[in-house]
Amino acid sequence: MNEVEKFKYADGRMPIETLYNIYGDFVKAGWTSKIIFDSQDRVPPAVSFQSPMEGDAVWIISGVHGEEPAGPMAIARGVNDIIKLGKKFPMVVIPVCFPWGYATDWRYMNSKRWVPDIDLLSVEDTNYFLFDDNGKLRADPSGSTKEGYLLSKHIVDLHGTHPPLVSLNFHEDNFSRGGYVYAYGEAENKREIASKILYAMAKNKMPVIANGKTRFNQKIVNGIIGSVFDSSIDELIVSDECCFDGKEVEKPYADMAFVIETPSKNASLIKRVSTHLVVIKNIDNFFEFENPQAL
Ligand SMILES: [Zn+2]
Repeated sequence: MNEVEKFKYADGRMPIETLYNIYGDFVKAGWTSKIIFDSQDRVPPAVSFQSPMEGDAVWIISGVHGEEPAGPMAIARGVNDIIKLGKKFPMVVIPVCFPWGYATDWRYMNSKRWVPDIDLLSVEDTNYFLFDDNGKLRADPSGSTKEGYLLSKHIVDLHGTHPPLVSLNFHEDNFSRGGYVYAYGEAENKREIASKILYAMAKNKMPVIANGKTRFNQKIVNGIIGSVFDSSIDELIVSDECCFDGKEVEKPYADMAFVIETPSKNASLIKRVSTHLVVIKNIDNFFEFENPQAL
């Protein structure tokens, strides 16, 4: 029996085939779909969708960690809302960065859950492609997984037609009692926007953490964690340079990137999906894109 058959979507999450059928609506609406990498055990590949409109884009990302189903499900429920947003401004959607993990409830490629003190392999490890303060790569690129390389490279390649203006990455946290938001990037108003996101979450009756610490010992202040150097794809998106195959790349970058976290032990899956969906539906209210000067 493979891991997918063993898991059988026992926590009530939608089967991945159902999600992908719904995501097919992007293509029906004229969006482009690209394969990022293949999965195993008959699980569909990781894919991205790009709106027909090109230019500075809003990015929606989810499913980086396999045991966090709310984001991929919210994107399915909100597919028509996202298609509508894509008529107002260019967009990129990567709904399930780690499809095999979603289908099996595995957080990482080599571990079902987070555990301290072991080398955990994530599809979003960007330390092989980002520089440290001394201008050196943070890790030897030969250590990257194939999936990690292909996801990071794909993101940077998409910067050509749909450079990121802002990105929202939907995660969950099974250690936390409440939701919180990471705010990456150099935009002066990023905390103000993160507060609007938190307010929308709280208004949807999702518990939100005011102050505390994450499992990684990151400080949460007023529900927000500022820029962290965690070698995530969010950090890649706000970085102006990276390196692939020994070649340095100067790239467009977002001024701000947000990671939205909902507490998976302290709220039902239905509630977490509806909270992510509220955030998605309010994207143009948070950023006032009708008036780009407001950025
Ligand atoms: Zn996560």
